[in-house]
Amino acid sequence: MTSDIEEIKSRLNIVDVVSSYIKLEKAGINYRARCPFHSEKSPSFFVSPARQTWHCFGGCSEGGDMFKFVMKIEGVDFPDALKMLAQKAGVRLKIQGKEWEQTKTERQLMISICEASCKFYETQLKKSKTGEEVKEYLLKRGMKEETINEWRLGYAPSVWQGLSDFLIGQGYEKEDIVKAGLASKKDSQRIFDRFRGRIMFPIFDFNSQVIGFTGRIFGKNDDEAKYLNVPNTLLYDKSRALYGMDKAKMEIRQNDFCVLVEGNVDCIMSHQAGIKNCIAVSGTALTPIHLGIIKRYSSNLVLAFDMDLAGNNATKKGIDLALKNGFDVKVIPIVEEKDPADIVLLEGDEKWKELISNAKPINEFYFNLALKGRDVNDLESKKQIVKNLLPIFKKIANNIEQSYWIENLSHKLKIKEEDIRSEMKKINVEESSFEDVKLIEREKKTRKDLLEESLLTVLLIDGSKSSLIEESDIDELSPLAKDVILLIKEKPDISFEEINKALGNSSEIVNLLSYVAISSELMKDSDIKIDEEWNKCLMELRMLKGKKDRGDLSQQIKDLEKEGAFDKIKELLDKFNSLIKKDEENKKEDKSKNN
Ligand SMILES: [Zn+2]
Repeated sequence: MTSDIEEIKSRLNIVDVVSSYIKLEKAGINYRARCPFHSEKSPSFFVSPARQTWHCFGGCSEGGDMFKFVMKIEGVDFPDALKMLAQKAGVRLKIQGKEWEQTKTERQLMISICEASCKFYETQLKKSKTGEEVKEYLLKRGMKEETINEWRLGYAPSVWQGLSDFLIGQGYEKEDIVKAGLASKKDSQRIFDRFRGRIMFPIFDFNSQVIGFTGRIFGKNDDEAKYLNVPNTLLYDKSRALYGMDKAKMEIRQNDFCVLVEGNVDCIMSHQAGIKNCIAVSGTALTPIHLGIIKRYSSNLVLAFDMDLAGNNATKKGIDLALKNGFDVKVIPIVEEKDPADIVLLEGDEKWKELISNAKPINEFYFNLALKGRDVNDLESKKQIVKNLLPIFKKIANNIEQSYWIENLSHKLKIKEEDIRSEMKKINVEESSFEDVKLIEREKKTRKDLLEESLLTVLLIDGSKSSLIEESDIDELSPLAKDVILLIKEKPDISFEEINKALGNSSEIVNLLSYVAISSELMKDSDIKIDEEWNKCLMELRMLKGKKDRGDLSQQIKDLEKEGAFDKIKELLDKFNSLIKKDEENKKEDKSKNN
């Protein structure tokens, strides 16, 4: 592993790695750019080719090597950054002497099934008779041949066991094909294809690996849904998938805004028209996770949503969520049932570009939407317009902007401003529905997750330390971590394979172990002292345990209070206080140990 990291570092230049994401300028012997991790006007982000490091001297003071850079900019953990850079460098990774490829996790198996399926569908599009017709249809819709190839569009033949037979022939198990979301189980023996008679759009992850599909009906099967997605699988999760993100991410960062459309075809046509900072949320409303992903690249959103849909609750909620999380939102009003793909096809690339540059700020859009088709002189209409707009005005944080819109409305409806204001005071904007959905920048590990990882890392380097852990110490850890620790206690020099086998080879254990394997290799290689790390872990464990014990005690005390058993309470209170005292002593002791 260590040698792999060195190998990657020796083959790649940090200047090339960084400049594949942001534009670098030469500054003496170094390179300089505006920091991608905080917003700044003058460039204070430096890359040193001599030291193969980067550092921000501005607001965030971040810095590190190429791995750290990729982790931060892609928002991934070390193992994924390692995989990305290994691929770039053409290095085949080894874990504990085995090639990474051979230690296939369930995730990697799913990826290889999806990739094989994608090739199958592509071939069907090119070689089969109906495939020809599909291609004809796509070309007629304005898609260029190179676009079809770039987005790897395909065709799923209208048979029950086309793809499944192909995959079984390639040696994949029926069960795994079902797990990948590509087939359903008919009975204990047979499976049948999920996608039949459909144009296939592969869905890619950030590294352009196929993780799922959307199928659009082709032909006369009118009774079936027009669009069909894979179900949520180990790879695909519709609350986080953003169609086209792999191709759009760097464009979004460079242009500092993201165009969001509704359909896959809209997204593809926008890219073909030269607007490549475009992604689609297919068939679902914007989620906090989507927004968190987009925010890594830009906090400016341009929405190209259907006018009528923009009024619907799911869309509104998504927009509100974006605003609440500091996005600047603009809207391209799409009218007359013309979606972005139609605009590109019928009115050309330039028209689409023009619409984007004329996108309206969200409040202006809502304002026009509320007035649209209503008679501003009619009393009932006036009331309706005010009713629609006040909750939106009330949420505007900037007073000047709020006044601007109130004034505007008063002028349009010929109503006094003060009347609008006093009506606005009466309404309650329900904030509560958003409090529970906080924006997730990325899945944050809890303190307990981190503890488990470092504990396992230390124990896998030095298993003999496990003799110092009592079973009751690890009561509060997750069952999986607990199982691993107990195995190490039993056999301090246990190998990864043995742990893996003992715990049934599940994907959770493989993922946990490959993560821990890498961090233990890194720890051996770095300045972190194993004993210090060990002491920190023990302290955390004791604190976790102490918290649990105190919780139990205070519950017992409450129960006794209810019963009125005051004589017993005294005893428990003393116990409680001594626990707190012990906890403080532990902290002091740990402090002196670490100093
Ligand atoms: Zn910075």
